[in-house]
Formats: sequence, structure tokens, C-alpha cells
Amino acid sequence: MEELPEYQICSKCGKRSTPYMDRCWNCGQPFYVETSSEVAHIHTETEKAGENKEHEPEKISPCTLEKMGFTDKMFAYSLLFRGEMVLEFCGCERCRDIFRETLAFFREADPDNEDIMNEAKNTDIKGIILDISEFGL
Ligand SMILES: [Zn+2]
Ligand SMILES: [Zn+2]
Repeated sequence: MEELPEYQICSKCGKRSTPYMDRCWNCGQPFYVETSSEVAHIHTETEKAGENKEHEPEKISPCTLEKMGFTDKMFAYSLLFRGEMVLEFCGCERCRDIFRETLAFFREADPDNEDIMNEAKNTDIKGIILDISEFGL
């Protein structure tokens, strides 16, 4: 597997971001750029996240993913494909749309197909987890 690009970890919520961001995409916490202590700090946080990730992958809602900037989105996708991050539908209209498209994809059906539309409408999507890495795409 390819190595993950460098990243920084939010001290507040623990989500990972690309090194280019000046604040956390998830909670908005600014990343402080300190002098010499910075490298040591990031290293420790990385180890901490490494311990956690075996138990529980990070979760992101599809609507949040959609709003991310390009580099963070690409980074999130690299985590998603490795199974270190999973999609968790939040129940909003946008998530429902994405759920419908996902459903259509797996059924090899048209997203505007009536059955797909009804199923998406009648499914309680809030909290549904989708682990992209399991599909071997
Ligand atoms: Zn954060
Ligand atoms: Zn949502």
C-alpha cells in the first residue's frame, strides 16, 4: 500500500487534515504553527491516532466530505479507501441524496429509478455506516 501523505491532527477533535490547512475541516480549530516543539507534538499525536485507529475508524458524513476543500477531500478519500475512515450518513437531505446514488450504484440501477427513490426515502439513513474499503473499488 502507498504511504499516507503527511498530515496533522486536530488537538480538539482528533481528525486528520492535510498539512496545508490552517484550521481543522471538522471543528474549525486553528492549527498553531509553533517552532521547535511542533514536530515533536505532531509525532506524538500521530502515534496516539495509530493506537486508536485499530479500534474505531474516523467517521465522516457524506455531506461534510462534500464541503471539504480539494486537498482535504483527496486525503479523506485516501483514508476511506484504506478503511481508516468510514462514511456515516447524518440524515440530512444531502446525505439522503448521496445514499440514493450509492444505493443505485450497488444495485446497478438508475438513481432516478422509482424503486431506488422509494427505498432511499423510506430508509432511516441516520447512522448508517459505509466502509468503502470493503468494496475493493
Ligand atoms: Zn478538529
Ligand atoms: Zn448529512
